[in-house]
Amino acid sequence: MGCYSLRPGSHTLKTVYAAQHRLHSTDEVWVAGERLESREVPCRAEVIRAALVAAGLGPIVAAQDHGLAPITAVHTPAYAAYLATAYRRYAAYLGVPQPVLAQRCGVDPARLLMRPASFPELCDYYTYDHEDPILSGTWEAAYWSAQAALTAAAAVCAGDRAAYALCRPPGHHATADQYGGFCYLNNAAAAARWLSAAGRVAILDIDYHHGNGTQAIFYADPAVFYVSLHVDPAQDYPYYWGFAAERGSGAGAGTNLNLPLPLGVEDDDYLEALDVALGAIGGFLPRYLVVSLGADAVRGDPIGKFGLTSSGWYAAAQQVAGLSLSTVIVQEGGYDLDTLGGYVVAFLAAFVS
Ligand SMILES: [Zn+2]
Repeated sequence: MGCYSLRPGSHTLKTVYAAQHRLHSTDEVWVAGERLESREVPCRAEVIRAALVAAGLGPIVAAQDHGLAPITAVHTPAYAAYLATAYRRYAAYLGVPQPVLAQRCGVDPARLLMRPASFPELCDYYTYDHEDPILSGTWEAAYWSAQAALTAAAAVCAGDRAAYALCRPPGHHATADQYGGFCYLNNAAAAARWLSAAGRVAILDIDYHHGNGTQAIFYADPAVFYVSLHVDPAQDYPYYWGFAAERGSGAGAGTNLNLPLPLGVEDDDYLEALDVALGAIGGFLPRYLVVSLGADAVRGDPIGKFGLTSSGWYAAAQQVAGLSLSTVIVQEGGYDLDTLGGYVVAFLAAFVS
């Protein structure tokens, strides 16, 4: 799949939506008689969609199927096969369907040496988290979330100034072969790798949390520059990754930039760090920009703990849009259902001119 020459930018912004997200139905998840609480619920995508419809920023189109290849370009085939079959295989093991939930997991160097052959040990191997269930529809929802990002990337490749992928589940915590932090397939990474066939790509991750999965996927890749503003991992999730000293490795040395910020960071310091990020991206001379958009960076989010105000958020959107790059915006976090739609619309509006 190749890219075409750029057309002048349009005055609307296309949103790509995949209704299959509802199949990852986390409203009511019961494991061994206990209710599993999750804030990453289907309503998140629906409040964003409703706000976009109300704002009339542009057409909302269905995700197109680009197949499995762009997904296994950033994930191992064995991991993708596991995600696609885990629910059925676990049900066969138990004799009754039940959400797959890891029991023992984490950062375990030994996992690199041996892969368990079967359940239940296998369900600990492909995750570093223990709060993310694999449900009957998780694979289909994650697959189509990735396809939404790829469809938005294709729109930008074909000449749109920017396009928005309303991805759910989110993706930036998913590594090449582990899920975690609500993320199963890395949507932004799939889009970035796909775009990189046509030129250098920068990823700007402004979710409250560090995108450890995206960083890991491109850590040694000089064609993709990963830049992230996020809470200091010494203070909040994902704890093990996202420190300033992580700068890339091998051929990718220097193409990873982490700008960790303290809990409660306010507008001025946040926007100053964003300036640094955008300056670095400009210096990389990318052909495309992928934005991992997390509204959990705004004050009041029930998970995020920054002090960024709504006016700081609007200013950030203007700064990012001011790069004037062909941009794919991919939805990551954001958990305040009352404000999420409005913040997403406000960010996207900066790209409609
Ligand atoms: Zn987040």
